Amino acid sequence: MENTFGINIIPENDDARIAVLKRYKILDTPPEHAFDNVAKLATQIFNVPISLVSLVDTEQVFFKANVGMGNARSTSRGLSLCSLAVLKDEVTVFEDAVHEPCLLANPLVSGAFGLKFYAGAPLITHDGFLIGTMCIVDKVARNFSEADRNILAGLAKIVMDEIELRLQAIDEREKQISINEELAAANEEQTATNEELAATIEELATTNEELTSSNQELEEIRINLSEVLNRLVESDAKARYIISDAPVAISVLAGRELIIESANNKILQIWGKDNSIIGMRLEAALPELEGQPFLGILDQVYITGIPYYGTELKALLHHRDKLEEIYLNFVYHPVKDMTGVTNSILVVATDVTEQVMARHKVERAEEMLRMATAAADVGTWHMDIESRNFTPSPKLKEIFGFNPTDEMSFQAALEQIADGYKDKVTFAVEESITKGKEYHVEYPILDFNDKELRWVKATGKTYISDHETPSFFSGVAVDITEQKQDEQRKNDFIAMVSHELKTPLTSLKAYVQMLLAKAKKSEDIFTSGALEKVLVQANKMGKLIQGFLDVARLEGGKIHLNPETFKIDKLIKEVIAENNIISSSHKLTFECEDLTVHADKDKIEQVLNNLVSNAIKYSPKGKNIEISCKKSGENVQISVKDEGIGIKQQDINKLFERFYRIENQQTERISGFGIGLYLCFEIIQRHHGHIWVESQPGQGSTFHFTLPLSDNQ
Ligand code: ADP
Repeated sequence: MENTFGINIIPENDDARIAVLKRYKILDTPPEHAFDNVAKLATQIFNVPISLVSLVDTEQVFFKANVGMGNARSTSRGLSLCSLAVLKDEVTVFEDAVHEPCLLANPLVSGAFGLKFYAGAPLITHDGFLIGTMCIVDKVARNFSEADRNILAGLAKIVMDEIELRLQAIDEREKQISINEELAAANEEQTATNEELAATIEELATTNEELTSSNQELEEIRINLSEVLNRLVESDAKARYIISDAPVAISVLAGRELIIESANNKILQIWGKDNSIIGMRLEAALPELEGQPFLGILDQVYITGIPYYGTELKALLHHRDKLEEIYLNFVYHPVKDMTGVTNSILVVATDVTEQVMARHKVERAEEMLRMATAAADVGTWHMDIESRNFTPSPKLKEIFGFNPTDEMSFQAALEQIADGYKDKVTFAVEESITKGKEYHVEYPILDFNDKELRWVKATGKTYISDHETPSFFSGVAVDITEQKQDEQRKNDFIAMVSHELKTPLTSLKAYVQMLLAKAKKSEDIFTSGALEKVLVQANKMGKLIQGFLDVARLEGGKIHLNPETFKIDKLIKEVIAENNIISSSHKLTFECEDLTVHADKDKIEQVLNNLVSNAIKYSPKGKNIEISCKKSGENVQISVKDEGIGIKQQDINKLFERFYRIENQQTERISGFGIGLYLCFEIIQRHHGHIWVESQPGQGSTFHFTLPLSDNQ
C-alpha cells in the first residue's frame, strides 16, 4: 500500500478496528440520504465545497457520502487524509496543507486538485474504535476555530449514531429476513399442509353432505330416542317407586364383584341392613354370607348367564348382632348388555321363613302325633269332605276287626256299629261336617272278624278348606272296651246297691209319714218337727239313690225316651211351684213365652229340677232365681239364672262330666255326687238339644238348654 504521508498511518489496533468496521456492514454500500444530508449540512455550515463521510478500510477509504468530489466512491488509504484523521480521537485539522510536511507528497495537495484545507472528525464507535471520518475539504486555506471543531465532532457523532442505527436496522432486517425465511419455509410447509387440508376439506365437504342427510335421519332418531328416554325416565321413576315399596325384595348387583347398585326396603329388611350398604360389594356388606352357598351361586349366574331359582333356601343373616335363620324363595336373573354379556344380576326374593317355620312346626307336631298315636294304640282317620274318601290308619282298622291290608270304607265302618248307636254316630259326624261342631262319641261295635262287642271312643274335628288343603274331617279313636267293662261292673253294682237301698228307704219313708201324721194328731210338736226333718233327709236320700239308678241305666243304655207334645211354660210353672213348697229360702221368678215342645216330659222335668235345685244349693239365701224360656230359631231356649257363687272358666268345660264336682271352700259343705249335670247333659243330648253355662265366679251362673220346638208350633 502506498503511503504518501511519510509517517505510519496504520494504528496498532488496526485489525480489530477493521473487524469492527466490517461489523457495521457499510463498506461498498450505495449512498444513503441520511449520510448525504449530514455531508450537505457540513458544507453549508462550514461553507466548504467538499464534505465526505469516509470509512477507512484496510487498503481503501470508502466514501459513504460524497458532496463535491464528483462520482468518486473511494480512494487509496495512502492518499486519503482521513487515514490520518483516524489515528487520534480529536478532530484533525490542516488549515493550510502546503505548510504541512506530511502532506507535501500527497497528490491531492501537490496535484491539480490543489487541496489546501482539511478538517476531519473521527467516527468513534460506542466501544472506542475509530472507523472513519466526517470531514470537510477546501481548495483554499482556512482558519478552523475550536467551535468549528466541536461542530464537526458533533456532526461526526450524528453520522456515527446514524451508522449504529443503520446497523441495528440491518440486524433487524436480517433477523426479519431470517424470520421471513423461516416463515417462508414454514409457509412452504403450510402450503403443503394447506394442500392436504384442502383435500381433507374437500373430503369433509362431501362427508358433510352425507352427514347432513344422515344428520336428518339422526335427528329423527334423536327425537324418537328422547321420547323413549322420557318414557323410560318416567317409567323408571315409577319403577323405582314401585320397586322401593314392593312387597317382594329386589336388588341389582353390578359386575362380577357384585356391587349393590340398588336395594329396596324389603331386601334391606331381609338383610337386616340400612341403605348405607348401597355401593358396597355384597361380600363386604354381608360378611356372614361367607361359607353359605349364595356368593358361589351368584358367581355361576354371572359366568354362565343362566338364571338360578332357589326354593326355601336357608340363609343365616345378621340382624341386630344376632345370626337369624331366614328362608328365601328367590331368583338370580342375569342382566345382559346389547352384546349379550352379563353385566349385573337382578335379585328378586320373598321371605318364606314364617311359612317354612310353620310347616316345620306342623311336621314336628305330626311326627309327635304319629308317635303319640302309635304309643297310645290310637287309631286315626282322615276323610275328604267333598269326595267322602275315607282313609283309616292300620290301627283303626284293627280296632274295627279288619286286617291292616283290608279296605275299610266309611260305610263299612258304620256297618260295624251296634244297633241303636248307628244313628247317633251318623248324626254326630254330620253335625261336625256341616256345622263344624266337635265330634266326641262313644259307641259299641261288633268286631268285623270275630263279631265280639267292643267299645270305641272317638274324637274328631272338621277342618275347613284354606285354598291349599280341601276341607276334611279327621280324628282319633281308641278301644275303650276294658274301661267300659269296668264301668259296666261299677254301674251294675251301683244299680244293684241303689235298688237294694231304694226298697228299705221307701218303707222307711212310709213309716215316718205314718208316725208324722200320728204326732200331728196328738199335737206332739217336738216329735212332728223331728219326723219332718227325717222325712226331708229321707227324700234327699231318695233323690240320690234315684240319681245313681238313672246313671246306671243310662250307662247300660237302658234309658228310653217317651216323647210327647206339651207346653214347656206350664211344666216350668209346675217345677217352680214344687220347689217353692220344698224351699222358701229363695225368690223364684218366671218369664216364659207360650211354647210347645215334643220331648220326654218326665226327663225334662228332671233336668229342670236339677238346674233349679243347683241354683238354690249354690246361692246364698234370699237371692233371686229367674227362670225363662223363649223361642230361638227352631228351638226353645230355657234358662235358669242365679245370683250364686259362680263357676271358674276352667271348671265350666268339665261340669257336665260324670262325678265332676268343684271342690272348694264354698262347696265343701254342700252335699252331692256330681251326677246331676251329667244326667242333664245326657238327657238333653238325646233330645238333640244343647246344654251350656255362662258364669263368672262371685257373679252367679246361668244354665241354658235348648229343645227342638214341636212341628205344629
Ligand atoms: P252336685 O250333686 O255336686 O251338685 P252336679 O252335677 O249337679 O252335682 O253339679 C256339679 C258341680 O257343678 C257341683 O258340684 C257344683 O260345684 C257345680 N254347680 C252346679 N250348679 C251350680 C250353680 N248353679 N252354681 C254354682 N256351681 C254349680
